[in-house]
Amino acid sequence: MTNVTGAVGRSPVVRVSADVTAARGDRVFNAARDVADSIPVVRTGPTGILALEPLVLATEGERTTFFASPRPSTVRDLVEDFESEGLPTDDADAVVEHDPEVASLPVPSDGPLSVGERRTLGPCGWVDPLDPTEHTLVSTERDVGSVADVGLLGRGRGDAAADEPIGETWERARGTDGEPVVVVNANESDDRPRADRTLLAGSPLSVLDGVAAVAEYVDAEDVVLYLNETDTELQKHVRRAVEAAEDELPVVPQIVAGPDEYRAGAPTAALEALEGADRIEPRVQPPTPAEHGLYGRPTVVHTPRTFAHVRHALRNPETFDADDADPGTRLVTVTGDVDAAATVELGSGGSLSDVGDAVVMDGSFKMACVGGVFGGITSELDVPPTAQSLDAANLGTDGVVELLSDERCAVATVGERARFASTANSGRCVPGREGTKQLTELLREIYQGAFRTDDIRELGRVMRKTSNCRIGAHAPRPVTTAMDEFEPEFRAHADGRCPSSTCEEKL
Ligand code: SF4
Repeated sequence: MTNVTGAVGRSPVVRVSADVTAARGDRVFNAARDVADSIPVVRTGPTGILALEPLVLATEGERTTFFASPRPSTVRDLVEDFESEGLPTDDADAVVEHDPEVASLPVPSDGPLSVGERRTLGPCGWVDPLDPTEHTLVSTERDVGSVADVGLLGRGRGDAAADEPIGETWERARGTDGEPVVVVNANESDDRPRADRTLLAGSPLSVLDGVAAVAEYVDAEDVVLYLNETDTELQKHVRRAVEAAEDELPVVPQIVAGPDEYRAGAPTAALEALEGADRIEPRVQPPTPAEHGLYGRPTVVHTPRTFAHVRHALRNPETFDADDADPGTRLVTVTGDVDAAATVELGSGGSLSDVGDAVVMDGSFKMACVGGVFGGITSELDVPPTAQSLDAANLGTDGVVELLSDERCAVATVGERARFASTANSGRCVPGREGTKQLTELLREIYQGAFRTDDIRELGRVMRKTSNCRIGAHAPRPVTTAMDEFEPEFRAHADGRCPSSTCEEKL
C-alpha cells in the first residue's frame, strides 16, 4: 500500500479524481491504493465532469492516460499492470502528452474535458486539494489592488457584487469606518449550480488564496467561510484544507454552516444567518454589505468563484483584458435532462452553445433555462457567456445552463419555478411575497382556460422593479421568457390541451 500526498511533478503516479462525497471515488481509490506497491496513489478532487467520475489518471513522465468510471477490479488490474509493464494505455479513454511539471489538468483533445478553457478549474482533479505545496500561494506577495483595475465582476447569486465591479466594493469597504470582514458565501441549496462546490472540493487552497488576498487588501482580520449545514463532507474537506494551509495563509477563515434554504444563499440573508437570526431574510439595501455588513461592520461578500478568479487574475494578469466589459471566464454548470451534470469554463469569446459537448442529453433539445432556477427560458444558446450578453438576452448569470428535452412542457416547467418562488421567498417584501403567489395563481388559471398575458407581464415588470432582492426580481423571468418563445403552448393549455402530453391530469 502506498499512500502519499502530492501529485504535481510526481512520476509515476496514479490519481483518482472524484467529488468529496463520492463513495465510488473512495472505493476506486482504496482499490488502487491496496494493490499499489511502488507507485503512489493520490486522491484528487472533482474535475467538474460528473459523468467521468471517478476518473483515474495514470501518469508517467510526459504522458497521462485517462480511464473514466472504472470498476474497482479494473483499477486493481490497471495499477498492477502499471507497476509491472509501465504506463497502461489499453482501453484508455484518452492519452495526453504534457509538461511533466504541469500544475493543471492536461486536457484531452476531445470529450467533455476539452469544452471551453480550464483556468480556475485547471487544478481541479489534478492537484492534491489538501497539499499547500501543490498551490503557489500568492496572497502574501502580490497586491490585489491591481485586480481592481482589471474590472473583474462578481460571480453568482451569492455574491454581493454579482455582475458588478468587485474593486468598487473593496474600495467602499476600505472607505467605511469599522473593522472589515470578508465572507465567502458558498451556501447553495439548489443542486443546479456546482461551480463553487467543484472549486472548494477540487482546489480549496486556490479559493483560500484569493480570499486571503482580498482580506489583506481591505485590511480584514476576520474571514468567514459560509457553507450548507447538511453538507458535512464538504465542511470537513474545507476544514482540512484550512488546517493544512494555516501556517502559510495571512488570514485563516472560520467555517460556519448555515441553513439549507434557497434564500439563505442570498448575500445579505447570509449575513443574517451568520448573525444567528431566527428568520432568514435578505436585508433592504442600501446600505450595502460593504457599508453595513456583518454586525454592522464593512463586509465584502463574494462566492468561491469570484475569489478563484481573483487569484487567477493575480497569477496570470496577462489573461485578463481590462477593455472587456466582463473580463475573464465564466464557470457554467450544464445540467437538466442530461446523463450527468458538468461544470465547464467558458471564455468571454465563447458561446453557451458549446456546453452541449460536455454532456449527453436524454432526448432531443427543446429549450434551456439559463441562469439557475429563476433563469431565462430560451431555445437559442448562441449567446456569449458574459454578464452583459446574458442580460441583453433576458437570461440569468448564475452560471447554470439547464438543458430540457422535448418531453418537457414549457407551462409546467415555469409553473414549478413560480410555485418554488412562492415558498422559497422570505416574505419580507410585498412584491416578493404577494407577487410570487399571484404569479403562481395566474399560471394555474391558464389550466382553467384564462391566459392573462398582459397581467402576467405587468406583474413581472412590477416584481422586477420593486422586489427587495434578486429572488423576487428574478422569479417571473422563467415565465415571461417562456411566454416570449412558447406562447402557442400557453394558449394550447388555455384551450385544454398540453402539446407535450405532460399536463393531462390538470386539464
Ligand atoms: S424578494 Fe422575496 S426573498 Fe427577497 S426580500 Fe422580498 S420576499 Fe424576501
